[in-house]
Amino acid sequence: MKFQDIIGNNELKRLLPQMVREGRLPHAVLFTEEGCWGAMAFALALAQYVNCERNTAPESTPSLFGAGTAADESRRELGEAVPGIEDSCGVCDSCHKYGKLIHPDLHFVFPVSAGKGLSESEKKAPISDYFLTPWRELVLRKPYFSEQELYDAIGIENKSGIITVNEAKRIIEKLSLRAFEGEYKTMIIYLPERMNIDAANKLLKLIEEPPLGTLFLLVSHNPERILQTIRSRCQRIQLKPLSREERKAAGLTSTANPEFSEILQHLLTVSLEKKLIDTFPLWESLSEMGRERQRDWCLYAEQYIRTIYLVASGLEELAETKPDGAERIRDFAHRLNPGFYEKAFKALEGVLSAVDSNVNPKLTFCNLANIFQVIA
Ligand SMILES: [Zn+2]
Repeated sequence: MKFQDIIGNNELKRLLPQMVREGRLPHAVLFTEEGCWGAMAFALALAQYVNCERNTAPESTPSLFGAGTAADESRRELGEAVPGIEDSCGVCDSCHKYGKLIHPDLHFVFPVSAGKGLSESEKKAPISDYFLTPWRELVLRKPYFSEQELYDAIGIENKSGIITVNEAKRIIEKLSLRAFEGEYKTMIIYLPERMNIDAANKLLKLIEEPPLGTLFLLVSHNPERILQTIRSRCQRIQLKPLSREERKAAGLTSTANPEFSEILQHLLTVSLEKKLIDTFPLWESLSEMGRERQRDWCLYAEQYIRTIYLVASGLEELAETKPDGAERIRDFAHRLNPGFYEKAFKALEGVLSAVDSNVNPKLTFCNLANIFQVIA
């Protein structure tokens, strides 16, 4: 991952290499974001940059990462190239290994639990190393992934992961070795807020005074929930949200989330039953979500309604319905007014614009509930 491959947060692409060049890069950086705004991509690009054998790239150097993908195409259309930023070369031996996430000095830690593919002994004390193959596949395929997408990828769909003291011990072991090849050993910790107290206590000293040439890069979606003792030892860098265009370019569509589907299905049901009074708690919940989650909910709603539309049009094989949700979708497809879909998309696009322009969310979602009531 090169800085120039990252979507959005352009000023950070200049700042990070500058910090490295001026010797101001702290040994523990905490990237924070409230949604999938590219923090993992920045952690990877920074790790690659500090270890690059040449450290700056001619602009024509082709990107190794995600070259030729739809996201690249959209980014070019957006004019997202950031001319003149310092970057890793992308072609030296170190960059090559970082680009594939296989450099021996690059380590990953993320929340896990006993997943399907583990042996009985592994299940007793699961650590990130057991899941490195699906982890690498996920990060390479989509560096803008959500916590749920991680759990889906590593096969622990219905559980929450945790970073335990076993993981902390493993981190200490790995970082006590000399760097194999590069100048830095890099430890990327995804979602340090999932670290329990025992793990955090074990790591405190290491994060405060790591061995020479060690870089901790933490990526958090909920920094307030990281134990204060860990948080205070890191320099925090807050990412900015991506615009709608940038989200599209990053391949960010809605992420299914039980709360999202519950609200939407309830909204559709009460709209069909014309129970306006029952929509109050729904638009209350929606208006209390942060803007990023409101956007995610709208994108989720569009995708779900598109699925119902396909089923209603007799194209269920294109709809990719999951077996557990298919019955519900068929029921909606059967009951919703054929004119509903187009109007619903228009209404949801209106909500997305309103959320982007900071319109009062209560009014926005109350209005949406009213429209659904009329058109369902
Ligand atoms: Zn390089």
